[in-house]
Amino acid sequence: FLFSRDYKSEDTIVNVNGQNIGDGIPRFIIGPCAVESFEQVQKVAAEMSKRGLNLLRGGAFKPRTSPYDFQGLGIDGLKILSSVSKEYDMGVITEIMSTDQLEEALEYIDVIQVGARNMQNFSLLKAVGQTNTPVLLKRGLSATIEEFKLAAEYILAEGNTNVILCERGIRTYETATRNTLDISAVPILKQETHLPVVVDVTHSTGRKDLLIPTAKAALAIGADGIMAEVHPNPAIALSDSKQQMNFDEFNHFMDAIETFSNKA
Ligand code: PEP
Ligand code: MN
Repeated sequence: FLFSRDYKSEDTIVNVNGQNIGDGIPRFIIGPCAVESFEQVQKVAAEMSKRGLNLLRGGAFKPRTSPYDFQGLGIDGLKILSSVSKEYDMGVITEIMSTDQLEEALEYIDVIQVGARNMQNFSLLKAVGQTNTPVLLKRGLSATIEEFKLAAEYILAEGNTNVILCERGIRTYETATRNTLDISAVPILKQETHLPVVVDVTHSTGRKDLLIPTAKAALAIGADGIMAEVHPNPAIALSDSKQQMNFDEFNHFMDAIETFSNKA
């Protein structure tokens, strides 16, 4: 398999806007759950910029459980991400849900996110594999590690080698957290693949009180980066309002993780 260490022993490093994901330095992918307005995204980018962070996430096409919930701003959302990212010199990571959105989206974004619900959308995997744009592939809601690796293989097999794996929690019987963070998936994926692995602490826990300990655990166990959601005013967010950090919480989070990383 193209994902395997047998095929390629050295680590794959994915460059996004000057940041090498997978080079041993932890990277932080930060931003709101959904793009809601230019002002909202700009505020988050300004806050990230103060901390030297330049990997901006935000959903323009949102895979919502209910069709009556906010579905995202679509192309207008991508335009917002693109103009804010130019202003702050950031790379944009955003979810694309179907192949027909892809071509137009590529004009605005730096990393295509394939969401958990689309991990086995094989036509989407093939289509993103035919681009040269980096892909952040999220683990499916109930996907085994084997299925996750094979989803990555679909992208690699089409010729795109810039794949980042994202552990985002899986469905179990446990209800204390939104999903169950499968922390051991990180070293398993690092051993069995050459691809960078990041951990989405927001969607795996759904709990702001668990973001610091899970991010520490992820970095301690070998993750190449962390994804987390930040919103200027989470109380009025149009999606995931309970789990997004406000700016004070975000700065506290980054302080804690930087102190931890420096000690390690
Ligand atoms: C997201 O990152 O915006 C998201 C919807 O996550 P997931 O696909 O992991 O549920
Ligand atoms: Mn979200």
